[in-house]
Amino acid sequence: NILVEQADPELWTAILAENARQEHHIELIASENYASPAVMAAQGSQLTNKYAEGYPGRRYYGGCEHVDVAEQLAIDRIKQIFGAEAANVQPHCGASANEAVFLAFLKPGDTIMGMSLAEGGHLTHGMPLNMSGKWFNVVSYGLDANEAIDYEAMERKAHETKPKLIIAGASAYSLAIDFARFAKVAKDVGAIFMVDMAHYAGLIAAGVYPNPVPHADVVTSTTHKSLRGPRGGIILMKAEHEKAINSAIFPGLQGGPLMHVIAAKAVAFKEALTPEFKAYQAQVVRNAKIVAETLTARGLRIVSGGTESHVMLVDLRSKGITGKEAEAVLGAAHMTINKNAIPNDPEKPMVTSGIRVGTPAMTTRGFKDEEARATANLIADVLDNPRDEANIAAVRAKVHALTSRFPVYK
Ligand code: PLP
Repeated sequence: NILVEQADPELWTAILAENARQEHHIELIASENYASPAVMAAQGSQLTNKYAEGYPGRRYYGGCEHVDVAEQLAIDRIKQIFGAEAANVQPHCGASANEAVFLAFLKPGDTIMGMSLAEGGHLTHGMPLNMSGKWFNVVSYGLDANEAIDYEAMERKAHETKPKLIIAGASAYSLAIDFARFAKVAKDVGAIFMVDMAHYAGLIAAGVYPNPVPHADVVTSTTHKSLRGPRGGIILMKAEHEKAINSAIFPGLQGGPLMHVIAAKAVAFKEALTPEFKAYQAQVVRNAKIVAETLTARGLRIVSGGTESHVMLVDLRSKGITGKEAEAVLGAAHMTINKNAIPNDPEKPMVTSGIRVGTPAMTTRGFKDEEARATANLIADVLDNPRDEANIAAVRAKVHALTSRFPVYK
């Protein structure tokens, strides 16, 4: 963009370098994706200039008639995608969507229940250093001996501790979640049932992962992960909760909505309603299965025994390498992943024995079965010989051969 280059050459250099990194590296971070040029153009539009505190038709500022259209389009489309009764598209991110739910239903000191961070949950589901962990009494559930969610233990703990809110959803869990079972437990103990579907939203939109919306009181999400929109959040809810959630977002938690981001959400939601998006998500899941099978064949263990989604955790211990080192050497080979604790990880959280691998971004650039298999083999090639510079260089050359055949932004 010539305008940015002229206004700020120093910044432009960093943007160009990041653009090149996104093109030339294989992006395997499970929470990342490539938004479409139309999404990015809407996000870069003049809507960034507009203040619009309030909601469509009920604003605290004049001149909102056009941004009202943008926000209503986003609301209508997201309700249609997930079959939701009501939606709020103003959360600035996934964390603030979750905080708004807490603000709407809870008081400090109340008991909440979520999946433990160490076993796949998110920070905002009760981690001690997060607001959710500081302000609430947190009861966690985790995995059973097969590394699937321990529904029985969750149910038992819920009856013992009577949480006011139960959260289902995860950042590093590869299997399908039984939302109906959570909903029954929540009903039995009188809890609000919240699902944070941030990771799975795109898959759910395409019908390739279970939809929590029929089961939950409120469903939060990010819009930038598998859903492939701009960086942001949303909240879907039963109509009876709409007032409480809307007033928790504004004026409870946020000020003016980011109208340019909401416009970009509207574009992304329109894209998510297309047949191409359904085919894309089916390939995301297919690619993840191929990566998991290939890594298994190469001697790595997949946590939970495999994947039913876009994501998997890989136990690296058979290769004698930590997650921290694997992140560095795979990065040197131009494959981007993140280190991730595995269940009962003997290593510290900044070291770990695992990596998290996801397929949304590689699938967006056009990788299908063959390229997914090739990518998994390249990961295994690095991990088999991680301290050999010549090996890393050879893999890096193969990565570039692959990425140059599949440009992201043409
Ligand atoms: N919820 C889940 C399950 C997540 O994985 C994440 C992001 O990693 C979030 C919420 C937070 O989203 P954000 O980074 O937009 O605040």
